[in-house]
Amino acid sequence: LLRVENLQKSYGEEEVLTDVSFDIEQRDVEVIIGPSGSGKSTLLRCVNRLTEFQGGDIRLDGQSVLEMNENDLRRRVGMVFQDINLFAHLTARENITLGPKRVLGMSGEEATGTADRYLAQVGLADQADSYPAELSGGQKQRVGIARALAMEPDILLFDEPTSALDPELVGEVLEVMRDLAEEGMTMLVVTHEMGFARRAATSLMFLDEGSIVERGPPERLFESPERDRTAEFLQRLT
Ligand code: ATP
Ligand code: MG
Repeated sequence: LLRVENLQKSYGEEEVLTDVSFDIEQRDVEVIIGPSGSGKSTLLRCVNRLTEFQGGDIRLDGQSVLEMNENDLRRRVGMVFQDINLFAHLTARENITLGPKRVLGMSGEEATGTADRYLAQVGLADQADSYPAELSGGQKQRVGIARALAMEPDILLFDEPTSALDPELVGEVLEVMRDLAEEGMTMLVVTHEMGFARRAATSLMFLDEGSIVERGPPERLFESPERDRTAEFLQRLT
């Protein structure tokens, strides 16, 4: 589904990603971990071209993202950020219907049906008419996930979706993500939540200084990492 080939990315003189290659198949849940500044967010941003890259390629179903129409790419690759950027003057439902109406060309009625379906999926059927200010951080993040889902993406990218939340709100968001993983959503998730990685990831990738140090099934990386750097990093996390 997604193929990253020898990806190379610099900001000016500073190389941020060096020769990064990996494949994601449908239904895979890839969890990306690594120290601050290792290039995790940059990698996600390259995938949906929020930032340009200098070398290599990224393919979605064989087609280079460089050759794709940006709207088409952003529809097929959904993103959930750390900072929940809902429109404050719109209700939860209205935040979700915006994309389907504008990008998918849905009628108002159709988009409302879609919004309500995904709100129910993230456990917020009863908050459809609430404004962001009336929602908790965890609820806002779940609306953000519903909004991404409403575009019916092929793959969802998550960049530390729970790290801005109060600890007691983290669980409800991870639970929604686990359900999605179980339903077969293809996901690329930057997170430090190792419980989620253990339970939901099909593969764990450790990125350091812009390169993949090690990648494999989470249980293998947890139980018998091949690299000292991986072991040290995981030890600090758990
Ligand atoms: P964190 O865990 O702190 O979120 P990260 O792994 O997501 O870190 P990135 O945000 O991808 O790391 O940053 C990788 C490197 O690229 C860092 O050295 C950072 O300073 C640099 N960088 C990121 N964004 C920019 C930018 N817009 N302009 C210049 N340099 C940038
Ligand atoms: Mg980051």
